[in-house]
Amino acid sequence: MAVKKPDASVTTDEQWSRVRGRLRAEFGEAAYNSWLQPLSLDSVSDGRVTMHAPTRFMREWIVSRYADRIRALWRGEDPKINAIDIAVRAKGAVAVARDETPPATTVAPAAPAGSYAARGPAPAVERNFTGALDLRYNFDNFVVGKSNEFAHAAAQRVANADEVPFNPLFIYGGVGLGKTHLMHGIAWEIRRRDPTRRVIYLSAEKFMYQFIRALRFKDTMAFKEQFRSVDVLMIDDVQFISGKGSTQEEFFHTFNALVDQNRQLVITGDRSPSGLDGMEERLRSRLGCGLVADIHPTDYELRLGILESKIEQLGAQTMPRRVLEFLAHRITSNIRELEGALNRVVAHATLVGRPVTLETTQELLQDLLRANDRRISIEDIQKRVAEHFNIRVADMHSARRARAVARPRQVAMYLAKQLTSRSLPEIGRKFGGRDHTTVMHAVKKVEQLSKSDAEFAEDVELLRRMIES
Ligand code: ADP
Ligand code: MG
Repeated sequence: MAVKKPDASVTTDEQWSRVRGRLRAEFGEAAYNSWLQPLSLDSVSDGRVTMHAPTRFMREWIVSRYADRIRALWRGEDPKINAIDIAVRAKGAVAVARDETPPATTVAPAAPAGSYAARGPAPAVERNFTGALDLRYNFDNFVVGKSNEFAHAAAQRVANADEVPFNPLFIYGGVGLGKTHLMHGIAWEIRRRDPTRRVIYLSAEKFMYQFIRALRFKDTMAFKEQFRSVDVLMIDDVQFISGKGSTQEEFFHTFNALVDQNRQLVITGDRSPSGLDGMEERLRSRLGCGLVADIHPTDYELRLGILESKIEQLGAQTMPRRVLEFLAHRITSNIRELEGALNRVVAHATLVGRPVTLETTQELLQDLLRANDRRISIEDIQKRVAEHFNIRVADMHSARRARAVARPRQVAMYLAKQLTSRSLPEIGRKFGGRDHTTVMHAVKKVEQLSKSDAEFAEDVELLRRMIES
């Protein structure tokens, strides 16, 4: 039955790579890398897609959080598909290594199925808009609290205004705090109010990808037209445009053209426009010239509110109040993790068919709870290390290169890398806006010195224990 045409597997691989591209675009780099990237495709036959995850835990996580979306995306590729299976199989046990995903920095797989180059601009606009918008991200289910009320109000204003109130609206904040959610909320609302308004939502990575593609197909005209003929352009995670000269240039022109024509722009980023250090000065100042709204880390009330709202959405779930309070107290990192924790607890209860208790919750979330407890801040590390070496904390950020301050600074960078989950660029930023290669160099240097100098190694070890305790 399952006789494959010679090109069948190629098509399947292509479909799979598109599904992954979409997952990555929708759920973001962090979630994609931790949960979805490790998922491998086994086979597609008789309307059933079989995939496998490397551990049981990952499987459960994927099933509880992403399975619906994965199924929907597969169906989008092939309407005959009606089921997906996710099995557990360790990487080593897989006969054929199929990990063809490019590293996180490349943008290739985020491509939509067809390109506007082949189809003309109009359908591409529709595809981008509808394809990437998530139904779950609307204003109705966005819970407002102190930390996000300003950004929320600004988003509402843009969505409900008849004339552009400020341009651009720039929303920034840490990962998992609701930037994408708010942005989709604006798009849905604008669309609901006036379906004829043309809204494009896309990630900065996709913007770059499309631009590079247009260059390759020598079709930059259509690219420009596509963006310049919209009413509202939304670019998510603009920090990813940093550093790419020609894309920045193009983005800048697109940006100016739209502002000149009084079209609304909504941009999000992980920091304020002035903090976008990989970006040209003129673009930074352009991004900051409308309304800049930041989303702060959550507080307990908001976290509890969000949990209650999610439980209600899940419907008919009975969840002891103390479990919700416990989660709101303990999962403080961000809303995405909080949601993930809740989903895991709910999925578990459904799977085993027993009601949730505080004990099972604690057991189930051990890893998450530990990670949330152990969150050590870079500021903390800087302070301790400065104290230890008897230098000023300000010297952690300063440009001074004297050994007496440079070495402690390197130690602090090293410890930041070891003890926090921050990326190299993030660490660099906290040390007076240094480049990630400087951090990398510091890490190597400290490792080297620790090997050759026992006293130094002891010092570092001592500091580590002090900070961890
Ligand atoms: P970001 O884009 O800032 O990284 P997202 O917008 O992707 O964060 O939000 C992460 C998750 O948290 C999403 O599932 C989103 O629906 C949820 N979320 C964030 N903020 C809120 C909120 N205020 N109310 C309800 N859900 C929220
Ligand atoms: Mg986002």
